[in-house]
Amino acid sequence: MIAKVIVDIPSKSVDFTFDYLIPDQMQAMIQVGMRVIVPFGPRTVQGYIMSLTDQPDSDMDISKLKKIKEIQDIQPELTQELIQLTEWYNQYFVTKRISMLEAMLPSAIKAKYTKYFKIESFSEVPQQLQLKFNNEGLYPYKEAQSNNDLTAITPLLKQGVISEETKLTQNVSKKKQRAVRLIEGFDVDAVLGSLEKSPKQYDVYAYLIDEQHHTVTLKQLDEMSFSKSSIDTLIRKGFIEKYDAIIDRDPFETRVFEQDEKQVLTTEQQVAYDSIIETIESQQQRTFLLHGVTGSGKTEVYLQTIETVLNLGKQAMMLVPEIALTPQMVLRFKRRFGDDVAVLHSGLSKGERYDEWQKIRDGKASVSVGARSSVFAPFKNLGMIIIDEEHESSYKQEDYPRYHARDIAQWRSQYHHCPLILGSATPSLESFARAEKGVYELLALPSRVNQKILPEVDIVDMREELSSGNRSMFSKQLHQAIEEKLARQEQIVLFLNRRGYASFMLCRDCGHVPQCPNCDISLTYHKSTDQLKCHYCGYQATPSNQCPNCESDHIRQVGTGTQRVEELLQQTFPEARIIRMDVDTTSRKGAHEKLLEDFGEGKGDILLGTQMIAKGLDFPNITLVGVLNADTMLNLPDFRASERTFQLLTQVAGRAGRHEKEGKVIIQTYNPEHYAIKDVQANNFKEFYDKEMNYRKLGKYPPYFFLINFTISHKDMKKVMEASKHIHKILLQYLTDKSLVLGPSPAALSRINKEYRFQILIKYKQEPALVDALKYLDEYYHDLYVKDKLSLKIDINPQMLM
Ligand code: ADP
Ligand code: ZN
Ligand code: ZN
Repeated sequence: MIAKVIVDIPSKSVDFTFDYLIPDQMQAMIQVGMRVIVPFGPRTVQGYIMSLTDQPDSDMDISKLKKIKEIQDIQPELTQELIQLTEWYNQYFVTKRISMLEAMLPSAIKAKYTKYFKIESFSEVPQQLQLKFNNEGLYPYKEAQSNNDLTAITPLLKQGVISEETKLTQNVSKKKQRAVRLIEGFDVDAVLGSLEKSPKQYDVYAYLIDEQHHTVTLKQLDEMSFSKSSIDTLIRKGFIEKYDAIIDRDPFETRVFEQDEKQVLTTEQQVAYDSIIETIESQQQRTFLLHGVTGSGKTEVYLQTIETVLNLGKQAMMLVPEIALTPQMVLRFKRRFGDDVAVLHSGLSKGERYDEWQKIRDGKASVSVGARSSVFAPFKNLGMIIIDEEHESSYKQEDYPRYHARDIAQWRSQYHHCPLILGSATPSLESFARAEKGVYELLALPSRVNQKILPEVDIVDMREELSSGNRSMFSKQLHQAIEEKLARQEQIVLFLNRRGYASFMLCRDCGHVPQCPNCDISLTYHKSTDQLKCHYCGYQATPSNQCPNCESDHIRQVGTGTQRVEELLQQTFPEARIIRMDVDTTSRKGAHEKLLEDFGEGKGDILLGTQMIAKGLDFPNITLVGVLNADTMLNLPDFRASERTFQLLTQVAGRAGRHEKEGKVIIQTYNPEHYAIKDVQANNFKEFYDKEMNYRKLGKYPPYFFLINFTISHKDMKKVMEASKHIHKILLQYLTDKSLVLGPSPAALSRINKEYRFQILIKYKQEPALVDALKYLDEYYHDLYVKDKLSLKIDINPQMLM
């Protein structure tokens, strides 16, 4: 037998399969999708088995083929489907197969680990073989291969007599924490009796009796304010002891979830539910656009359709924009489906992620909830895929391999003949246009559950505030509303657009702003570390007290970072308890969840935050949402600026008045007449959509045209210009005259990391020869990159044009 293997070398020149001979003793074990070690030239490298065959490629001499050295997996990590997907992506998106394979797999398997065979049932394993296993019942996989034991083990593995066990190296393995436990052998009542005179020790001991079957860490005891010295005394007396407890990696496992009861669907929800279920039962591919205002019960529809999918013995995949930002969503899923849910996201440690991945791979979890990359979850029998907040730009991976989760999900739903559901209160123009044309099926939930009215939205013209002498960042109206809500002990959410809140240094005398020496951008000032930083290349410097341009010492920090806004807010409302959420306060693992929990428990009056508070928040006591700067996003040089503004403001506004109490929204802006803001006030998506579609048509932008953005970069400006001209020429040769080729022109960020950047943008509707052009360019510039570091980035359907 021969294996076709893609080797793990990220180079275009070897990005196809090579044939290897499979040694006899591996034949029973080997499967498509496994990773293997193979000789490659003078080296030994890892590879992925793409297919198995009896026939070599040509009439070459099989005996001359090199042999596979070692198999690395006991179960294949990749499914047949994912391998096929790699091929498709390589064909149409000009992406290296090996890069896609790497993007699909959890990073833990790139880390150090050891795989073992593990005995599940000793009596069924032949004596001879048993001897090879250690007293924990483990036998290293590698050793089994070199001992030629695979042929004997494979059938036992299939019967479940032997299983697979993976041990990751220290830093990704199970976490250890110092804990305390009772020392056994004492009559606990007698001990308690002896402690009656020392109530603090008594409390600790009594608590440990109650919790005998649970792990009690020192940290927990400390958090519950048990006295440290009493613990030490009890240890000295020999009643209790410290030990290293292994804390399970499942971040949700120790929690008890209340069952979440399913709701009786409203008529509108029922219509949506029925259409989806019909598609699932008839095993068709269909894409639905579930357009429902915030709080209209979309999630309830997801949950109930998933339940039906599970009852049919199938699996469901749910994508969310950024899971750290939606802890409430995860909780709802856990409450409804318990251990059936695997949670995949970047906040987990490698080991945790791998555990979740394995649960899916081995069929132990039937539902996944995860961000972008979870679209590759190795389910084998999908009944449904859901993308919540489908308009979010985080579904596009901007780094190579660039992919959009929506495209991948569409392909997978076709593969599995199952529906794809795109949900949003503010669908992307692309998706809504497809729904209007009947490519997608539109399901609408136009009102909130239980007829709760959407909050009233007021727009405040900040130009008027200025001219009436109010120079603060809070308009009179917002100021008053905050005071009112504080007095009524209701909660307030204040949103600041991240982009408007960077701070930088400015010389008051000559206007000089320190720039990054490597990039075409000003440096951002970070107060916490007193450093100037470049957000593109990581350059850092300590700010000087003297202007490097005119030597004046009037160089100051300007602009208002979120921290500064918090200070101002506190000065204005001294009695308010403020919780600030931004990249600085949420960088620690779990911090985000903790802050939200605090706010939910009423430990704060005002939640002040950036983009990350726009989504998912659902607290009954929020009755006021204020948007401090609605404009910063409007002014971005991007054709999606209005769309993004409309989406973000609608999301933020949706945080208010979701329950019994009525909500109010105040938007501060310098562009009160802009349709993206007015239509938020009117809560009229369709109105916004129609106007925006008009602009897109005039400007020849998506969804009327497709875009591809080429970015050419190199340290030598002349080379960039030459290459740009060449690419331009090639594109004109390949493309019909119905397409537009714009540029070359300097990119909006014309220099990053000392490299000059030029762009070419093409707009097209249908281009039969496009893929050929892309392949040609990709290959041509791949060689140039290897030789000369001249880089060509091809971004198909770009989300950002910077
Ligand atoms: P969305 O996902 O559209 O924001 P949710 O599904 O979160 O909406 O629903 C909003 C609120 O209404 C939630 O608290 C949910 O439990 C509740 N809800 C949803 N559907 C129903 C229903 N049919 N009957 C009663 N309450 C419901
Ligand atoms: Zn100066
Ligand atoms: Zn820089």
